[in-house]
Amino acid sequence: MTAAGDRAAAYRGRFAPSPTGPLHFGSLVAATASFLQARSRGGEWFVRIEDLDGPRTAAGAADDILRTLEEFGFTWDGKVTCQSRNGAAYADALARLDARGALYHCGCTRREIADSSARGVDGPVYPGTCRDAGRRQGALRVRTGGEAIMFHDLVQGEVRCDLAREIGDFIVSRADGLYAYQLAVTVDDAAQGITEVVRGADLLLSAPRQIHLQKLLDLPSPAYAHLPVALDADGQKLSKQTGAAPVGGRDPVPLLIAALRFLGQQPPETLRDAGLDEVWRWAHGHWHLRQVPRQALPVSRHTTG
Ligand code: GLU
Repeated sequence: MTAAGDRAAAYRGRFAPSPTGPLHFGSLVAATASFLQARSRGGEWFVRIEDLDGPRTAAGAADDILRTLEEFGFTWDGKVTCQSRNGAAYADALARLDARGALYHCGCTRREIADSSARGVDGPVYPGTCRDAGRRQGALRVRTGGEAIMFHDLVQGEVRCDLAREIGDFIVSRADGLYAYQLAVTVDDAAQGITEVVRGADLLLSAPRQIHLQKLLDLPSPAYAHLPVALDADGQKLSKQTGAAPVGGRDPVPLLIAALRFLGQQPPETLRDAGLDEVWRWAHGHWHLRQVPRQALPVSRHTTG
């Protein structure tokens, strides 16, 4: 293969935590799967701190997450990037969307939308109230329409989403001026040349939105693999809000083994007594994305908090 061919085929993956609190078991699962998937392809793995939402960013959380990743033995390529320093790229993307006539200002409140909308697959479907209102202020929404978005998710299988009917025109810049996650992640994944996105299935319905933006911005679409979401014993998604325990500062070996099991891999019992390096050696040698289940079983309190 030529050097150019090698470059074209190079795998680039990423882990993109929001620094709203310390790393917990759910985020450890996403980090582990995206890391092993990248390394098993001889690819690069990047860490991006998704700190766009200033008010939700917890002081010190980004450093804490990076320290915990190091404690667990993760190694990333290049410099860690932060969305809060990338505003110019998002502004440029908005300008390009606007030049295509794809955006409009929306002044509807959450309450107005909730009262006037049908429920879609991921919350209320925006009814298009401000579509032709010619407003000059407020949040910016991107128009949806046209053909349904279809893609093959490497874990979840075929996904088909009629954005206009099931999700509606969605926000790319908030009324308070913050860029929306959907816009920022689309721009960053393209800027970093990410070829495959491996993350939790709570974001499965974000993928069609991101593919829509990729099409409007003439950006390539990465492959997607959406992992089962870690639930606590009550069936709630693990999150800081539901009190998921931080994984930092604890013995990484049993937690990493639990993450591998959660991901459908079958580390032998004997690995419990092994050192961290040995667990990683086993994981690198045995990682198979096809063994990852579509849905998760609840994780024991011992692991999650
Ligand atoms: N920042 C998101 C989170 O922490 C992940 C976004 C993504 O992987 O696309 O849930």
